[in-house]
Amino acid sequence: MKSRSRRWVIKAIGDPVILNWSEIQKCILIFVFFLFIKVLWVSWHIYTLSTPEFYPFVNLEALRFHLKLEIIELFVFVFLIQYFNSSRNDQHAQQFLPYVCMIFSTTSLVFDSYSSGLLATGTIVNAMSFIYLIVVLFEKRVLFFAFCYSFCIFFFFIRSGMVTGEFQYAPIFNLANIGYPNFLNHFWLSSTIFFSVPPLAIGLFIFATILKQWHQRETYITELSEMDSLTGIYNRRVLTKHLLALDRNSNDIQSFAIILMDLDYFKKVNDTYGHLMGDRVLVKTAEILRSSLRATDFLGRYGGEEFLIIITNTKKEEILRLAERCRQALENYEHVVYQGQNKDQKISVTSSIGIAYVEQNMSAMQAVHAADLALYKAKANGRNQICFG
Ligand code: GH3
Ligand code: MG
Ligand code: MG
Repeated sequence: MKSRSRRWVIKAIGDPVILNWSEIQKCILIFVFFLFIKVLWVSWHIYTLSTPEFYPFVNLEALRFHLKLEIIELFVFVFLIQYFNSSRNDQHAQQFLPYVCMIFSTTSLVFDSYSSGLLATGTIVNAMSFIYLIVVLFEKRVLFFAFCYSFCIFFFFIRSGMVTGEFQYAPIFNLANIGYPNFLNHFWLSSTIFFSVPPLAIGLFIFATILKQWHQRETYITELSEMDSLTGIYNRRVLTKHLLALDRNSNDIQSFAIILMDLDYFKKVNDTYGHLMGDRVLVKTAEILRSSLRATDFLGRYGGEEFLIIITNTKKEEILRLAERCRQALENYEHVVYQGQNKDQKISVTSSIGIAYVEQNMSAMQAVHAADLALYKAKANGRNQICFG
């Protein structure tokens, strides 16, 4: 069920990770948020207009006018969603449509704020929900534009209208009848809750979803930066970090071993069967090593066809046993070279292993060097064998 809904989401919006969406998709999300607010406003107007007991607390004429405006805005947002959706693949539109989105959404927000009172709780909650959404969704230039634009319409239009007396504060309400403090009036209080709680819940839900996806993406990127992209085991960077940590935690580590493993004549595999076959051998080698080692042993790809294993607090005999198990497992595995029907060939690739076992004062990097010398010895002695340094 979950994967079906996921497939549906991917079909409808592409990438389910909101931060990966295009600017236009993010604009559509903002419009959907506003559409939801418009539905709230329209239903509130209709309910208030159809309940005569509320009439003393509202300005009926302004309310009727405002309802028409809200219905028009609702259709405008539906149209914008359709228009933006049809421009989703237009690269040029990606540049300017976020600004168009900011113009429509902030205009709607400022005028709704003006109608219901600039300092009303609902106004502040809606504005905050809008601000934290656009802060996480858009680039700084779009935010700056939205800020300047809303500031301008507020200052040059609404504020000057209020100062000259042309506009009144919260024109859809009859504040004199609502009384002071206004939250003692149940109509005002219910309206405030109606305008604040649903947008806050929706805004927070989107915000929390974005943050969660952000966190998941961070974790994924960290994992990617630690993994070797071909074999899926740790890469050299993590190996080096782990080696340096051995020196730092020397008090807890009585002994450690560095095992350096190199595939024999690997160049020949590439030259004879192709680079892709070589890659497959490397992937399988990592798999075999992982399954031959214990969960506590640290395995990584050190270079091309070289693998490094770090083992701590383990006796020398046990380390030799582990290395021998790896060597044999690699030697015994038969890699299939696909060459068409009935012509598939099987090859095995052997490995040489150098081990440095450290019980006394020797840094991890010196141990790697010792393991490297031991590996060189194993190669010189004829390969497919283990040497201690
Ligand atoms: P030796 O027994 O002395 O180790 O011989 P060798 O052929 O294994 O060693 P050499 O250093 O001559 O060759 C290593 C080869 O590994 C050369 C390089 O093209 C190949 N190689 C390194 N990284 C990759 C990789 O990611 N994929 C593939 N397919 N080949 C790789
Ligand atoms: Mg090699
Ligand atoms: Mg090599």
